[in-house]
Amino acid sequence: MKKYIYLVLIMLFGFAFGQNTINITYVEPYEYKEVSGSLLAKASLNIEDANQYKGLSFENGKTIEIEQENGKAWLWLPVFGTPESVTFVGNSRKNSTKQLFTPLVTSDWGYFKEGTFHIISSSHQDIAWMDTPQYCRHERIHDIIAPALDMMDTDKAFHFGMEQTLNLKEFIEEFPERKAEVMLRSDEGRFTWGATYNQPYEGMQTDEQLIREMYFGRRWLKKNFEGNDVITAFNTDVPGRTLQFPQILAKSGVENLFVSRLKEGFYNWYSPDGSSIPTYSPGNYGWAVMFYKLFEQDAIEAMHKLQTRVKMWGDYYKEHNLPPHFAIVISNDASGPANYGAIVSEWNDIIKKTGVKMPKLRHSTVTALMNEIKKPGVVFETISGERPNIWSYIHGPGHAKAITASRKAGRLLPSAEIFASIDAILKGSFKDYPEEALSEAFEESIYPDHGWGGKNGHITDSIFRAKLEFAASEADRLIEKSLTSITSNIRTKKNNAVVVYNDLSWERTATAKVTIEDNSNYYVVNHEGVVMPSQISNARGTRTLEFVASNIPPLGYSTFYLKKGKKYFDVNKSVTPNALSNDFYIMRLGDGGLTYLFDNKLGKEVIKTTRFAGGDIITMKYDGNGAGEFTQMTEPKMDGFNKASLHTANWKIVNDGNVFTMFENKVKFEHANIVQYVKVYHQIKKIDVFVDILDWDGTHNREFRFALPLDMEDSTIKYEVPLAIAEVGKSEMKQAPRGWAWGGTYDQKPVEIHPREVMNFIASEKDGFQVTLATDVALADWIDATRESVEYTVLQGILMATHKSCHGEGNWYHQTGDHHFEFSITSNEANDALSYQFGNGANHPLQVSEQKIKNNSGVLPASKSFFKVSQPMVRVSTIKKAEDEDALVLRLVEIDGKNSQPTISLPKPASKVIKTNLIEEETELLNLNGENIKIEIGNNAIETYKIILKKTN
Ligand SMILES: [Zn+2]
Repeated sequence: MKKYIYLVLIMLFGFAFGQNTINITYVEPYEYKEVSGSLLAKASLNIEDANQYKGLSFENGKTIEIEQENGKAWLWLPVFGTPESVTFVGNSRKNSTKQLFTPLVTSDWGYFKEGTFHIISSSHQDIAWMDTPQYCRHERIHDIIAPALDMMDTDKAFHFGMEQTLNLKEFIEEFPERKAEVMLRSDEGRFTWGATYNQPYEGMQTDEQLIREMYFGRRWLKKNFEGNDVITAFNTDVPGRTLQFPQILAKSGVENLFVSRLKEGFYNWYSPDGSSIPTYSPGNYGWAVMFYKLFEQDAIEAMHKLQTRVKMWGDYYKEHNLPPHFAIVISNDASGPANYGAIVSEWNDIIKKTGVKMPKLRHSTVTALMNEIKKPGVVFETISGERPNIWSYIHGPGHAKAITASRKAGRLLPSAEIFASIDAILKGSFKDYPEEALSEAFEESIYPDHGWGGKNGHITDSIFRAKLEFAASEADRLIEKSLTSITSNIRTKKNNAVVVYNDLSWERTATAKVTIEDNSNYYVVNHEGVVMPSQISNARGTRTLEFVASNIPPLGYSTFYLKKGKKYFDVNKSVTPNALSNDFYIMRLGDGGLTYLFDNKLGKEVIKTTRFAGGDIITMKYDGNGAGEFTQMTEPKMDGFNKASLHTANWKIVNDGNVFTMFENKVKFEHANIVQYVKVYHQIKKIDVFVDILDWDGTHNREFRFALPLDMEDSTIKYEVPLAIAEVGKSEMKQAPRGWAWGGTYDQKPVEIHPREVMNFIASEKDGFQVTLATDVALADWIDATRESVEYTVLQGILMATHKSCHGEGNWYHQTGDHHFEFSITSNEANDALSYQFGNGANHPLQVSEQKIKNNSGVLPASKSFFKVSQPMVRVSTIKKAEDEDALVLRLVEIDGKNSQPTISLPKPASKVIKTNLIEEETELLNLNGENIKIEIGNNAIETYKIILKKTN
């Protein structure tokens, strides 16, 4: 017996030794037939002698014939089954050979056996990146949307999606006659639209701009396509997410968010107030089309490839208790609708005919997928907080002037709404409320999406910039109009009244400016006759009087009077051309800027100048693309490094008085002239630093930074993001996003990403001491980016960076010419409210409206707050006319991260207060009325109220 086994082993091994696997080649596209309920596919054997085998026998004894034709050995193999040992039966017995056979599609579908595969076809398309806005608009309408709708006519199973409402707006402008068809397809759930207006850089838009994405998105669609709704938002492309965006979506009735460049999976993405949005990511939106190519051939090919693809997902689905619905996202930039209808029918026919147990295949949408996925008991992954945007170099630094206009429009359009609302309240009617002008300006201010540059990008960029500049100038125009009207109601006892308005919802002391039309001397008194510090400066032939306007009431005004003559005002200061001291600071100026700064109030040194001066200007090489298929931000390099502090300074005093002292220093860099201005205020704890970059020649791959080196190591960095204050190391999502770019996986921890998108300020605090840098640029840093980087904190603003679009035929962002940037510095005991109010104040200059002839008949007092919130860190985001009725809408945002119960004082008693969602859909009637209403607002919450004012005569 033993001998026998020995012999068999020798035979087996001796037989197998040196022998190759017989490879099987299927005919492709697959040629298959159904034989008594089982599916067979035609294949040939890769063997030299086609006559070597006559058949193939399976473990159950079943044999398949091998036929010879054209010198090859052919056979029909079962498509479905389990891997098993088979025998190629030779013509002579000793030629038979055994090997493992794995069918094309095994019966092992694991978790998805009873599941469904969703083909989600949509088109990611930037407004213009592929070409000009006009070209892309035409392509969207005629080559994507119209054919997709046509396809729905012929294939009742076909689904398609466009990612933003703007696409629908454009389509219906071109084809108004197809409205009913669009509505029908939307009702059927077959054609879906994204819930946002477009896909912005979320962290670049100001508070209300970001919220208006929902007004011109979901709200617009619901209003214009009655009965239709959109509940899924898309921001597919940008590897970035701002802190409050999930809350904005959740509080605008949006139920799902589709993103990519994030690990494939399902998430609840949380904002700091605790609201969240269910989020799905396929990893990268273009992968299925570009790499997996699942549906290029036929159903068998699709089954074969998908089986391999979903293998890795079984455990994830099981772990998260997800229903077995798996998505294949068919999306690519500007891809037209591809109909895989034939494959879908073929797939499901095969299942029907063979009765094989496997997942079904259907056309679908993100909304339909999420409806299947979001069942009780599912456990989504959690993401909390900000994903710092690694594409941010493209907006602020790449398009400095355009983004400056964008930020100005974003800040001042709400102010325009607020003053227009106040004017309407005073008039007792919304008749003159500039609803259309405001709406148009807001829409233009958010029109530019994430697709700056690209092919013919110079055209796109100039269109984007023109829209932003229009919006910013509209804000100025509308504010001036409302203020003139409001001012006419103020009772003034003398001529030359200057009414100073505060567009922020806390009391402020700041300077205000008024143009002087003659060569006389003037001074300023407040409405009680007290002389205010004032100072005249002369720039380019315009005489400007700047004065200290103290205690201007929140969302209100105070009246001052201009008087001819001179009044002495005692101020404690000592000034030389390169040094200054006053009540607040001791400052020395030297090469590159401030060489010493001491806080007199707190007895602290503020800056550390071992490497940079305070307000230094740095230039380095930046050779990134701004936005593109990379996984980490491109760091600046030392090539061509220069800094203002390498140049001998020659500071001079250009203006000095009891309000401020201003110094100037000029430095010549290789490709531009730099002028630095340092303006120190004597009544307010504030130092402004202005930077002019003049005659910039547009040299490629250069960047400029502004630096404020601080005497602080390992400090806490806080910065303003839309509708909140973020903190480095605390506010970011904790996990590396993963997900893919062409350049690899996004495996950098978000905490490490810098610079960051900022709104109005970045601040650094250590041991209870805080320095705030207010900035008018969109990107800020706190880590020294030069070689031999210093350990201490260096607050920086990225002024601009010349670079090229990542599009192969894309443009350079030269930004040739003159540029002006503004920063303000203060220091105090650490306090978020102080830095928030300082930062916002710096970018919201007090507004001035003059009343040259006295007005005895005015009904308004000399000073007044129209709206007041008892807790100033509950900020008024806007006050506006309600969209579809003559009511007020008040939006508040809690900034301090604390639950709060503020009282809101109104200009007239409320008869009714209704809580709404962010797009003004009523949610709850509150039991509130009267002139003072007390509300409850959670930490970091954004809340909107509709207020019906009592009719008074
Ligand atoms: Zn895009």
